[in-house]
Amino acid sequence: MSKTIQAIRGMNDCLPEQTALWQWMEQQIREVVASYDFAEIRTPVVESTDLFKRSIGEVTDIVEKEMYTFDDRNGDSLTLRPEGTASVVRAGNQHGLLYNQQQKLWYMGQMFRHERPQKGRYRQFHQFGVEAFGYATPDMDAEVIALSRRLWQRFGIQEHVELEINSLGSNEARENYKKALVVFLSERKDALDEDSLRRLESNPLRVLDSKNPDVQAVLTDAPALSDYLDEESKQHFSQLCERLDKLGIQYRVNERLVRGLDYYNRTVFEWVTSSLGAQGTVCAGGRYDGLVAQLGGKACPGVGFAMGLERLALILREQLASEQYVDTVDVFFAGLGDLAAGQNAVLAETVRDALPALKLHNHCGGGNFKKQMKKADKLSAKYAVILGDNEVAEKQVNIKNLANGEQQTLPEAELVSFLQGAFSN
Ligand code: ATP
Ligand code: MG
Repeated sequence: MSKTIQAIRGMNDCLPEQTALWQWMEQQIREVVASYDFAEIRTPVVESTDLFKRSIGEVTDIVEKEMYTFDDRNGDSLTLRPEGTASVVRAGNQHGLLYNQQQKLWYMGQMFRHERPQKGRYRQFHQFGVEAFGYATPDMDAEVIALSRRLWQRFGIQEHVELEINSLGSNEARENYKKALVVFLSERKDALDEDSLRRLESNPLRVLDSKNPDVQAVLTDAPALSDYLDEESKQHFSQLCERLDKLGIQYRVNERLVRGLDYYNRTVFEWVTSSLGAQGTVCAGGRYDGLVAQLGGKACPGVGFAMGLERLALILREQLASEQYVDTVDVFFAGLGDLAAGQNAVLAETVRDALPALKLHNHCGGGNFKKQMKKADKLSAKYAVILGDNEVAEKQVNIKNLANGEQQTLPEAELVSFLQGAFSN
């Protein structure tokens, strides 16, 4: 026998028992973004490598070591998208959606990063994200945060996530701060780990992100980013905080929050949870006012976030009972003999025509009655339509309420109105 082929490490199948949760999650997301009047955008999974180098930044973790990059047959360097924002900006520029306009967009789909697979960290994963273009004021920062808060409420996990926010200031403020930080850290190189030493050279702000407690101890006395903020950014940040207060959104200002991508300025934020170990960030975003121009478009401010759906699913699996998202079968059609099976198929189609919202399971493949009813039970069906030769001949149906065992016989023609009544609430 030949060896079975396995999926690529870190790239997961979503099996039928998991898709119910995913579809439910996606449905909540669609409803919430619609209620904020965001429109969906879909972009290709593959883009030219330059797009990500120029947007995310050459010396970030993603571009340095996580991208799936390969040469196309004609020699062009292509990359499987590691995130969504760059592609959305590329598409916006290409189709003239951004300049002098306002756009509220969202996307959902696969992303690819070559990381070490572990709980909440995979090589193919899914993000849902929103991007608002043409809004320079902090009311939009607050709106996208409010949108994410509404999702946690929908999912019933608002108690399990916390919002952290910070301001990176203008590019100039960030540069000035970077210099001060480099001076500070360079005097304390002995206390830094290898990772931080590397970041000190390539992307010093990322040292603030270090998960190493020894490095964090050194950072206690480091210069504070907030002391370097330009006046406008300070104001933007305090207005954002006021908005969040008004909306009743609790947050913690985390001065160490810098985010791993180069394109952010001013607002950055993360929703974090303690229930996923080191993979604690479920949603991350911020403002990227320079990105559109950086990718060749006319300057246009932007703000958005991306949510990791696998991490969300992990939290939901722990917190939700499956009844909250699994749609069980409404009516199971059981039949004894060929005639009954044939008639069940016809009846089920008739019910689908009249009551398209119901979930019907018509038993196929014959077999004994007991087995069929066991199946109905396993599917948690609410009603069973039961036919034998007699019923077919007399144009009748037996219908059994599987919750209380009550059974009655009806003329076939009354099946639809019976079910309509039974499922009307
Ligand atoms: P982390 O610090 O966990 O590596 P990140 O800063 O690289 O996250 P972003 O690029 O901001 O993450 O992506 C936004 C969200 O996408 C993350 O908060 C997370 O929920 C999810 N995410 C990122 N990388 C992965 C991955 N490899 N597997 C699963 N989810 C991921
Ligand atoms: Mg990462």
